[in-house]
Amino acid sequence: MQVRCVDAGSCNGCEIEIACAFNPVYDAERYGARLLASPRHADVALVTGPVTRNMAEPLRRTVAAMPEPRLVVAVGDCAINCGEFAGGYDVEDAVSDVVPVDLAVPGCPPRPDEIISALRRVTGR
Ligand code: SF4
Repeated sequence: MQVRCVDAGSCNGCEIEIACAFNPVYDAERYGARLLASPRHADVALVTGPVTRNMAEPLRRTVAAMPEPRLVVAVGDCAINCGEFAGGYDVEDAVSDVVPVDLAVPGCPPRPDEIISALRRVTGR
């Protein structure tokens, strides 16, 4: 399962936890999830942050570039409902209001093991 991360406007806290999920301690790759750079080879998009005005269209294009079947996972409270940034002048909307979301991982930020649990639901391992 190839995973593309998209920071749609986060504070970077969720990215740090995603990075931890793939470090040698948590090692998400042992469950069949692998980070990659291109959406064209991705099965899953991990999306963090509220979607800022500047990132709404790039997020739509990134998801559209992924081959089907594809999944989108909203990681963190900001991705789910804009969290701390709700009502901000530069915030467009939550991730599910911009692209279809299949799975959500709540938390500010979610812990690495919670991110891995979501990835395992996707990979089935
Ligand atoms: S959920 Fe928390 S850690 Fe994640 S982007 Fe929002 S404020 Fe930052």
